Amino acid sequence: MVYDLLVKNGKLIDESQIEIAIKDGVIVAVDKTLEGAAVVVLDLSGESYVSAGWIDGHVHCYEKMSLYYDFPDEIGISKGVTTVIDAGSTGPKNIGDFYQSAKSVKTNVLALINISEWGIVAQDELADLTKINHDLVHQALRQYPDFIVGLKARMSKTVVGNNGIIPLEMAKEIQKDNGDLPLMVHIGSAPPELSEILSRLDRCDIVTHCFNGKENGILASDDQIKTFVWDAYRKGVIFDIGHGTDSFNFHVAEVALAAEMIAATISTDIYHRNREDGPVHDLATTIEKLLEVGYQLPDLIDKVTAKPAEFFRLTKKGHVAKGFDGDLTIFNIAKQDKILTDSNGNQRVSHTRIIPQKAIVGGIVYDVK
Ligand code: ZN
Ligand code: ZN
Repeated sequence: MVYDLLVKNGKLIDESQIEIAIKDGVIVAVDKTLEGAAVVVLDLSGESYVSAGWIDGHVHCYEKMSLYYDFPDEIGISKGVTTVIDAGSTGPKNIGDFYQSAKSVKTNVLALINISEWGIVAQDELADLTKINHDLVHQALRQYPDFIVGLKARMSKTVVGNNGIIPLEMAKEIQKDNGDLPLMVHIGSAPPELSEILSRLDRCDIVTHCFNGKENGILASDDQIKTFVWDAYRKGVIFDIGHGTDSFNFHVAEVALAAEMIAATISTDIYHRNREDGPVHDLATTIEKLLEVGYQLPDLIDKVTAKPAEFFRLTKKGHVAKGFDGDLTIFNIAKQDKILTDSNGNQRVSHTRIIPQKAIVGGIVYDVK
């Protein structure tokens, strides 16, 4: 067999040597050394690391939106990310158009459908309950089963208006009627209170912006983790970073880690503005921040590969193994100082940089810009 791509002399994050062959978009062989002819040979010379392609589980990349938007390849392959999951930019009335435009990009694009019919056209998409149409969501799920991987409900004051917890209850009903598909819930300022939100979530529901620095967050005023937050965490609710412009705080993440409350997945909540102006920039920078908080690097790679693949049920992604999609991220690790800034302007100086080099999608190699 002539491989389409043969990656030579790579190393995994545990420093073990690895070579990978891809054919027709799929990983067909993985070993310490591989021989054989290939159309493209990518020799990493033992210097670069390779992992399964990075998955960013919370982005905004429907370019026709005016509030939160970006271009999938700007936050995807250009940043070493092979799969992006748009978190609720669109709802049942515009997700079809998003699907069409996403087909022509190089990055894998998937979506969580907003339960509000037009998604985030304005900040208050859940303030009018008539915009939540169970049947329309159901139809969209039937129409785009490979594109829509879950539901999104944004549960904070400016989004829900006077509706309190009701939109989340409606989201849970839609979830139950559609095979218990993944549900991501955004948290922020009250109402609704975080306690009301978390008490309604089940095991494997995803709470994004988990370490935000807001009053309605996980910490009480004495810096203790609120009891009901532990209840949700122990129940198996998935804590996702969802950094965003306003939603990642170093101190909250550090207190949580010290108490052994761990984020399960690392995501950016990136869109053009917080990419260009910060504080997000890209997924690699978000990984660097969690490294600075005290997470271990192998663990962090797991939280942008295997973990999001598991929680969003992407059965062919997240692992460097035979039969999985030919998506890989090539990156370097360098001892270099860098100032990192969270969403509240707090800074840390990190000494380790994670520098993506190439994104490989279905066996096709793209240089990181
Ligand atoms: Zn959000
Ligand atoms: Zn978001």
